[in-house]
Amino acid sequence: LTILGIETSCDETAAAVVRGPVDRAILSNVVRSQFDEHKAFGGVVPEIAARAHIEVLDKIVAQALDEAGCSFDDIDAVAATAGPGLIGGVIVGFLTAKAIAMAAGKPLIAVNHLEGHALTARLTDDLEFPFLLLLVSGGHTQFLMVRGVGDYERLGTTIDDAIGEAFDKTAKLLGLPYPGGPAVERLARDGDVTRFALPRPLLDRPGLDMSFAGLKTALRTQAKKLEPIDDQTVADLCAGFQRAVADVLAARTRRAFDLFREQYPRITPTIVVAGGVAANGEIRAALLKASEEAGARFVAPPMALCTDNAAMIAWAGLERLRLGPVDDMGVSPRPRWPLDQENSGVLGSGK
Ligand code: ATP
Ligand code: MG
Ligand code: FE
Repeated sequence: LTILGIETSCDETAAAVVRGPVDRAILSNVVRSQFDEHKAFGGVVPEIAARAHIEVLDKIVAQALDEAGCSFDDIDAVAATAGPGLIGGVIVGFLTAKAIAMAAGKPLIAVNHLEGHALTARLTDDLEFPFLLLLVSGGHTQFLMVRGVGDYERLGTTIDDAIGEAFDKTAKLLGLPYPGGPAVERLARDGDVTRFALPRPLLDRPGLDMSFAGLKTALRTQAKKLEPIDDQTVADLCAGFQRAVADVLAARTRRAFDLFREQYPRITPTIVVAGGVAANGEIRAALLKASEEAGARFVAPPMALCTDNAAMIAWAGLERLRLGPVDDMGVSPRPRWPLDQENSGVLGSGK
């Protein structure tokens, strides 16, 4: 099967062609980030994002087909993100996919963006169900049990800020550029992690829920006391913040392994990490350590596939199509679409 994938749910305009399931290959993977459009605002502006998607999507799709050496005739289906995400962008991508599918006479597959993140590791690694997924991005922070295609259970989530969002807000507060994650990580290298005592919120509670707003507030309070803050203090705050986040994730990951073992005593747990925050070296190291100590497997797909891209959408479409015919022409794009509530397979007409 050869699938054309389209992703436009946030600030990346992306198209890709993926082949599988037997001989798995990414034939092309084009991503255009709207970094410059949003930089001045310190965050993604939905209306600007939607307009930027409209302007470039046709060219990105043409480029993806071209690089893959494919025409519309060569593809078996068109898969596109139908949610969750910024609805303007989702509409642009999904309706473009629908138009292509209709014109080319190919099936249309409505993919849940989170399902794309969840299944990517099966494109890059030999990975059987079930496995754990930790999705950490600008918009999402959740642990999922991935039992099969369309069979997901959310085990825990943030009750306030997403981790990427907490990184971005912390950076803004310290006067660092957007996006905040890479800036905080860079400065943390020169910081002293022991200087500031920052909280590890919610760790005493059972379950896998997390909270990051309190951490950010504690950091603000500490920073305020020392104003005007010098470079070393900024670095120390970054280091303290990053360590606190890594500690929380490691502790939750250990608990996730326990949960997995309760449900699947005879299977060695695997945790897959995805999302932009997975780029963070200290967080990766903490997760790897927690996995090794628990005798579990840690899988991190290549960075380009951890952040938003269309190869993951094409692959999720492929995973669905291999299980049977799909016709999502009647589906409506949706801003909210929890993965465990309603899955792609039973997605109705947007009601
Ligand atoms: P989503 O995919 O949830 O819809 P998104 O587009 O914001 O939203 P991604 O593009 O996957 O998500 O990730 C962007 C986020 O990752 C930003 O919040 C950014 O600060 C964070 N990030 C990127 N690199 C790092 C890093 N090295 N350390 C920590 N956070 C990082
Ligand atoms: Mg993004
Ligand atoms: Fe994403």
